[in-house]
Amino acid sequence: MDLYEYQARDLFERHGVPVLEGIVATTPADARAAAAKIGGTVVVKAQVKVGGRGKAGGVKLAHTPEEAEAAAAAILGMDIKGHTVRRVMIAAGARIEDEYYFSLLLDRSTRRYLAMCSVEGGVEIEVLAVERPESLAKVDVDPRVGIDAAKAAEIVAAAGFAPGVAGAVADALVRLGEVYTREDATLVEVNPLVRTADGAIIALDGKVTLDDNARFRHPDHESLADIDATDPLERLAGEKGLNYVKLDGEVGIIGNGAGLVMSTLDVVALAGKDLGVKPANFLDIGGGASAQVMADGLEIILGDAQVKSVFVNVFGGITSCVEVARGIVAALEILGDHATKPIVVRLDGNSVVEGREILTAAKHPLVTVVDTMDAAAARAAELAAA
Ligand code: GDP
Ligand code: MN
Repeated sequence: MDLYEYQARDLFERHGVPVLEGIVATTPADARAAAAKIGGTVVVKAQVKVGGRGKAGGVKLAHTPEEAEAAAAAILGMDIKGHTVRRVMIAAGARIEDEYYFSLLLDRSTRRYLAMCSVEGGVEIEVLAVERPESLAKVDVDPRVGIDAAKAAEIVAAAGFAPGVAGAVADALVRLGEVYTREDATLVEVNPLVRTADGAIIALDGKVTLDDNARFRHPDHESLADIDATDPLERLAGEKGLNYVKLDGEVGIIGNGAGLVMSTLDVVALAGKDLGVKPANFLDIGGGASAQVMADGLEIILGDAQVKSVFVNVFGGITSCVEVARGIVAALEILGDHATKPIVVRLDGNSVVEGREILTAAKHPLVTVVDTMDAAAARAAELAAA
């Protein structure tokens, strides 16, 4: 999960990283009030999960609350690289002397963390890395240790900070390392980290990605999720513990096992190519395939207005096809009138004959049993195109 800048700022503050006051606003009037509360010169900053806001006109200085209101009016609703601005942060203005860069990220190839740091921040780091790679220090970080005082000193020395600021920057890096490990992040980036006219080191813009796999350890992170930006069906599936990804198509897919579901998507895409239909989703119901899980899966898929047919593709391994077939029959009973679209079922594997018999005997008007995966995909595509 990527965080907004204001959320990153709040996490930084909680871990003692020096930041300036910041208040989120969703209307120009609120922006004005926030600017009045902070006092003096403020910066009005678009809150979007995409880089390069500054260049796109999403960061504006305001000297009075009236100017802040006008700046917020200009920025709210703005489109930045396909993201509509719905919030701005009103941040206390800083008198910047120097801009630096720092990031800490997960390096999957080495199974370690990588710290990157430069005394030439503020600019786009991708550009710096290409044009002046020697000015971007890269320092390996042992994940079992993180950024301790010695590692921070090493990073600061590698980046070539002047002796006058090295100590304060190193202190900030230790705190940022704490944000990374304590919050289970996979990225913490500060651009720019600045030195102000009065000599303070401050994280002026932060970007944080949290590791979703560690979410269970952080109940407090739930409130950071961007509910309006998540697809409603994906949110519902998440609440029910299903692995569901919404796609842009007409054939709903349910399968067991990520590999089988992925190949089902391919087979349906091929079968639907000439008919102009595509898979509507990825949904892996996993090993169990109980009636309730099947009902939950069908409910999500039938809730997608774009779906015209459903393809249930299950290979009985440890779970026998008998249980799966009973699950489908029971799921249709649970759903009752909510089941409205044709369902093509292909079962194979453990106890396949008995499983198919159960489905045939149930004579559900919406269900067609097809023996092979290719033929079932073709049938589901035809039904979706009809
Ligand atoms: P980004 O373009 O999305 O990365 O937005 P930033 O928050 O990094 O801001 C872009 C640039 O605006 C910074 O590199 C600074 O040069 C400038 N800036 C941001 N905040 C302030 C501030 O408080 N005072 C001044 N003078 N400049 C600022
Ligand atoms: Mn920035």
